[in-house]
Amino acid sequence: MTKPRVIYWFRTDLRLHDSPALKAALDLEPEVLWPIFTWDPYYVYRARGGTNRWQFLLDCQNDLSKSITKLNPKSKLFVLREAPQTLFPKILKAWKVTHLVFEKDTDAYARQRDAVVAKAARDTGVEVVIRAGRTLWDSDEIVSKHDGKPTMSMTQLLSAAKKIGDVPRPIPPPKRLPDPGDMPLDFEQDVPSGSPDVNSEMRTKKDASYKSIAGPKGDFAIETLEELGFPPATTPYKGGESIALRNLADIVKDKKYTATFEKPKTSPAQFEPQSTTLLSPFLHFGALSVREFYWQVQDVVESYGKGASSPPTSLTGQLIFRDMYFAAQADIGANFTQTAGNAHCRFIPWHLPSEVDKSTGIVTDKYKIDSEEAEQWFQRWKQGVTGFPWIDALMRQLIHTGWMHHLGRHSVACFLTRGGCYIDWERGAEVFEVHLIDHEPACNAGNWQWLSCTAFFSQYFRCYSPVSFGQKWDKNGDLIRKWVPELKDLDAKYIYEPWKAPIQDQKKAGVRVTRDGLGDREGGTYPKPMFDFGKRREICINAMKKAYGVGLYGDDERVMDGSWREL
Ligand code: FAD
Repeated sequence: MTKPRVIYWFRTDLRLHDSPALKAALDLEPEVLWPIFTWDPYYVYRARGGTNRWQFLLDCQNDLSKSITKLNPKSKLFVLREAPQTLFPKILKAWKVTHLVFEKDTDAYARQRDAVVAKAARDTGVEVVIRAGRTLWDSDEIVSKHDGKPTMSMTQLLSAAKKIGDVPRPIPPPKRLPDPGDMPLDFEQDVPSGSPDVNSEMRTKKDASYKSIAGPKGDFAIETLEELGFPPATTPYKGGESIALRNLADIVKDKKYTATFEKPKTSPAQFEPQSTTLLSPFLHFGALSVREFYWQVQDVVESYGKGASSPPTSLTGQLIFRDMYFAAQADIGANFTQTAGNAHCRFIPWHLPSEVDKSTGIVTDKYKIDSEEAEQWFQRWKQGVTGFPWIDALMRQLIHTGWMHHLGRHSVACFLTRGGCYIDWERGAEVFEVHLIDHEPACNAGNWQWLSCTAFFSQYFRCYSPVSFGQKWDKNGDLIRKWVPELKDLDAKYIYEPWKAPIQDQKKAGVRVTRDGLGDREGGTYPKPMFDFGKRREICINAMKKAYGVGLYGDDERVMDGSWREL
């Protein structure tokens, strides 16, 4: 009998440790094994991905490739530049592949893509092996243990998980890897007739360098930002399995931090180092296994004894939230990232889209907001020039580094939606999708729904103030001084409300707070706030009450006396 000839298809599992799918590939005892990554035009051109996230992905690929070569000098991560849907039918045949192995991905696009690839493989007699490994528990199994419904709370997730059992212990990395086989490319490097032209954008766009599936030099090298057509990245954070494992080891070495971690007590204003783990981008690209993370933390918690925190606020609680969103998306599918067609997401008549087909009532352009003023608010929020320094600092931190603390994300998301601008959460989520290095469709959409009180959370009267919430953590305004340097010399008394600073104080600090316009970062001016926050909060809360069908003052006394309005 011929020995298996296996393609291991790396996607968002860019690691060697704790990979059930990679273990399944190696358990086949292959004659040859090709570790490959495919350049997917969906991600390169269609999905909104910023340069920082791409850089992080390339770091992860380069690190993984080095680790593969350490285990077998003839091998590396081979990058193929064609859409997987059209590429696989050709290479499976040309390379005489017997098995295709990959990690399960429950993201909506990934499911669609994988179904096409798996069918094509099976049609040509190739065995397809898929293993879950991206979450603590298999998200599809969670859904089935939850009576086929999405998990919309941590309690639901945990009770479904209880029926499955403990989180599996991590699997050690392999000690060796088989040689790769030959990689002939003597087939048409194009789209087979009749199949969707998923490569067309790759061929017609800027790609002077797109010469061959094997890359400009024909060596299946990892792509560069330049080849992808992106400008240099600005993020200070580097990706890769080696860094992820090192960072995790450093974190768990601090037993007190690990065991007593409570998310609401971590500061959104703390940076260099930040107050939480910053392991999310590694988890996104699979450079860190979530079960490795879970068990390293859980072991510390169990040995710590009294005083250790527990879910939902503990560190393992954060990972369980992640699983909750994955399982919600696994069931709801493509509609999870939008309100339309999503029965679990409450409809709120945010500033309405202006382009509606009057005969059908169908929105034809959801990006046009009926209020020009609100459109301007959105644009200013997106660029970090709202005139609220706390919001602007956070948005600029996001744009520059690709990351923001969870409570920072709370602040800016609440401000854009139900606690300020009353703009659709989907528009905010799209901005996050561009900039976040940890962008995870399930977690991003789920958290935006949480913050906008459209799903998961409904206490819309709890609004974050863009002034007092930041002050609670950072009286001196250090985060603002770092990211809004126009204000860096302003007295702490005014740093959150520079419009209140007398002209002499503004002069002393070398900044002018201007009535109109967006300010001029180099020219030493900063804009006045784009609206009166107190008034906007009132308007938003009343509008949310209406949307929730609550009477003008609601049943909740706390709404009336305002005690919950400001956090
Ligand atoms: P830690 O506090 O150290 O937590 C450890 C890990 O737990 C994180 O790495 C992350 O994987 C997971 N986690 C923590 N909080 C959450 C949460 N609320 N939901 C899901 N997982 C969580 N997280 C993403 O991974 N990708 C996203 O695209 C994303 N978008 C968000 C959008 C909004 C509006 C909000 C409010 C939150 C979003 N989050 C997202 C969740 C959370 O903010 C980040 O996971 C966290 O800030 C990452 O930093 P950390 O690794 O230091 O987290």
